[in-house]
Amino acid sequence: MGLGAAPFAVAAVPHRNATVLRDADLVLTMDPELGEGVLGRIEHADVLFEGGVVSAVGRGLAVPRDARVVDVGGQVVMPGIVDTHTHLWQVSIRGGCADRDVLGWLSNCSVATQPRISPADMYRFVRLATLDALQTGVTTVVDWVFSLPYAQTEQYVRALEESGLRFVYAMGGLPGREIARMKRELIDPLPLGSAHVSSFSDIGQLERLRADLRLARELGVMLNTHALEHRSQRAEKPIEALLRAGALDSDLLLNHAIHLTGHELEAIAGAGAGVAHCPLSNMRLASGIIKLPRMRELGIRTGLGHDGGTADTSDAFALMRAAVGLQRASTMDAGVYPGVEDVLRMATVGGAEAIAMDDRIGSLTPGKRADVLVLDPGTLNFAPRFDVIGQIVFNGQPGNVSYVFVEGRMLKSRGRLVNVDVAQVISDAESAATSIRGAIT
Ligand SMILES: [Zn+2]
Repeated sequence: MGLGAAPFAVAAVPHRNATVLRDADLVLTMDPELGEGVLGRIEHADVLFEGGVVSAVGRGLAVPRDARVVDVGGQVVMPGIVDTHTHLWQVSIRGGCADRDVLGWLSNCSVATQPRISPADMYRFVRLATLDALQTGVTTVVDWVFSLPYAQTEQYVRALEESGLRFVYAMGGLPGREIARMKRELIDPLPLGSAHVSSFSDIGQLERLRADLRLARELGVMLNTHALEHRSQRAEKPIEALLRAGALDSDLLLNHAIHLTGHELEAIAGAGAGVAHCPLSNMRLASGIIKLPRMRELGIRTGLGHDGGTADTSDAFALMRAAVGLQRASTMDAGVYPGVEDVLRMATVGGAEAIAMDDRIGSLTPGKRADVLVLDPGTLNFAPRFDVIGQIVFNGQPGNVSYVFVEGRMLKSRGRLVNVDVAQVISDAESAATSIRGAIT
């Protein structure tokens, strides 16, 4: 469809809870069927959502009489960011272990602190982290936790729910019946929540991997594993372990996946498994550089992730910039994959594909959930406009995100989080942090 095309509309959608984003300068639908190019661009267009679902995108849409009208003149509308891998609780150790690699960070910061966090403090940390994610335009998070008891999980999930984010809670490291109970009691009742089973892939612990896989199958959810983040983890032979356990398939998400051989990349592609790439974390923790161009050639489904506290803040723009920059710096080729369009796709619909949620989120295709962000380019860090797509990636900052909607619900408006006492949230997290600082070595 070209720029002058007629609006794409869905008939007989109820007009309840309707919102129209009116007269955006540019809508990046991420659906090539709806607009121009791979990002499905439409200029000077409206986006209408009703009952939490995108119902129409196009120029001069007819607006239901009771609709909320948000004037987004001069701004850019796109799908919300899908963060395919994070650990929100790790805001508790922000700034810690600044001179350690991933192994040092894990032992001296992460593993040292998690058991010391009370349920009440877990809520305070995750509350802060969810708001940090929302303010940069993240609308879906995949949060990976391990060995977290019921009481802490209850407060963790409460903070996720209260944020209004869509979330996937990947949990493991406890008896299967306990994971099943937490899913049934804490996650299943929540319309925006779903679960994965979190795991490690290590040939030395094949029985545990098999048990995790059985549990994931029983619960009907994806298996979600860290793999080959540090070069020394080659000794764990994670891809061989996954193959031997029967876990390497399209219901698997691999986090980091840096130190892979050519044959292993081909095995992942052949199996249809997804990958979560965390470039800010990989830089910070000296982990290495993922082989994205080869993964693209093989058609591996890949999304982006902040990787929680290891990336230290939620900045979707810095994340995209790092994904592009790492490949350019290592190949000295400005044409290497991903380019700016590729990385915008990776941050949205690519992430949705990696976690098999692209039937619901990732693009502004009518019928998908209304997870939307609006970006205001009229700021010191962004202006003057020249190539807006490139500028989103190279100049964007969380402060450019003027509106965020999840399931049609407005969570950020005119640059401010809605109905949140930010100062109180920060103060609560500060006081909670004092109780775990002594554990960091
Ligand atoms: Zn991680």
